[in-house]
Amino acid sequence: MTTTSPWALSGLPASRAECEALDAADPLAPLRARFALPPGTIYLDGNSLGPLPADTAARVNDAIERQWGRDLIRSWNSAGWVDLPVRLGARLAPLIGAQADEVAVADSTSVNLFKLLSAALRMRAGRRLILSERGNFPTDLYIAQGLIEQLGERPGGGRFRLELVERGELPQALAQARERHEAGKGELAVAMLTQVDYRTGSMLDMARVTAGIHAAGGLALWDLAHSAGAFPVRLNQAGADLAVGCGYKYLNGGPGAPAFLYVARRLQAGFAQPLSGWMGHAAPFAFETGYRPADGVARFLCGTPPVLSMVALEAGIDTLLAAEPFGGLAAIRAKSLALTRLFAQRALALCERHGLRCVTPVDDAARGSQASFKLPDGDMAYAVVQALIARGVIGDFRSPDILRFGFAPMYLRHVDAWDAAEALGEVLASREWDRAEFRTRAAVT
Ligand SMILES: *Cc1c(COP(=O)(O)O)cnc(C)c1O
Repeated sequence: MTTTSPWALSGLPASRAECEALDAADPLAPLRARFALPPGTIYLDGNSLGPLPADTAARVNDAIERQWGRDLIRSWNSAGWVDLPVRLGARLAPLIGAQADEVAVADSTSVNLFKLLSAALRMRAGRRLILSERGNFPTDLYIAQGLIEQLGERPGGGRFRLELVERGELPQALAQARERHEAGKGELAVAMLTQVDYRTGSMLDMARVTAGIHAAGGLALWDLAHSAGAFPVRLNQAGADLAVGCGYKYLNGGPGAPAFLYVARRLQAGFAQPLSGWMGHAAPFAFETGYRPADGVARFLCGTPPVLSMVALEAGIDTLLAAEPFGGLAAIRAKSLALTRLFAQRALALCERHGLRCVTPVDDAARGSQASFKLPDGDMAYAVVQALIARGVIGDFRSPDILRFGFAPMYLRHVDAWDAAEALGEVLASREWDRAEFRTRAAVT
């Protein structure tokens, strides 16, 4: 069979034995032991729920039995519980290219989006436009819609508005916004963009897009859900204003882990956020009647931190930091690109004749840490993913028709990419997916 796939690259391993050799020479190989992975599983869903790090259970158990059980309320001070949001923010900061005092860990990504979007709209008074992508993760769009609803009719008339464009139309939309800005009629308040598209894995050039947003007079709010912990993010270098991201994806913080937010230092003093809870107060334990925001990023906190979840997230962040002596996120990025390239190429070689198409960019600079595919029919795509999961190859399905496979190189090997592609090939060739049990949709896909 001749293939025209752009993924038919040369220089990739052509056998499982070659993959084994690459793994034997892999400097990141020792890091796999830092995870408690179930045997017989190839886990390609760390982009949705990172696996359990090997020492999380012991650390959470210590927080329960010693810090909570024995030391009781004293632990707010003695174990530093009260500082967890800013302490974890500082620890996470270098992984996303930020200063230690620009990041805090709190709430969920959705709630943090609400806080930052709201603050951004106040900062850009007079401007009414939030720009985002039609394909952005729904919660991002829902939060913007809810905030606009809440803010209602503006003094002087009119409302805020959410404009959605396709990813490919962004440069054009920003150029138009720039023209209006330069003509003194600037409307863009904030552009809210997710760096890596959750469905396709396509990655935006953060520095270039941020420059385009600034040229139009807007603020750049980045969602790093599929970036943080997957590759080096350079918020400061890109000139990013605001960012949010998840704790439970590539940061391996556990189900429902707290999220993070970033506010560039230069903006912090001028920002007011709407969830003015006591943990964001300048002096929470003075119990004053009036709200006074804390200096710095702490003003973006709201209520009491979920300590046990924070401790689990701390273990997840420390697991990533353990990669530093092995080359850190730069080495993780290089291996991730190699794994997604290998998997996509091998999967297409085996499955193009069954209608499999890759929707992830072949260009390294335009690809996050996943490989996503389409099949001719969404129900079939769903069933194929379920059949793979039954074989212990865990990826996920994203409506309407995407098969998604995330690659986290701290615990994945070249042989895993190879074997997963083989499994996909077998599932399609044998029509193993075509069974009622694999077609029934669960509540969480
Ligand atoms: C996963 C994800 C979220 C999740 O938000 P939560 O509030 O944690 O549920 C938000 N945005 C993007 C882009 C995501 O991929």
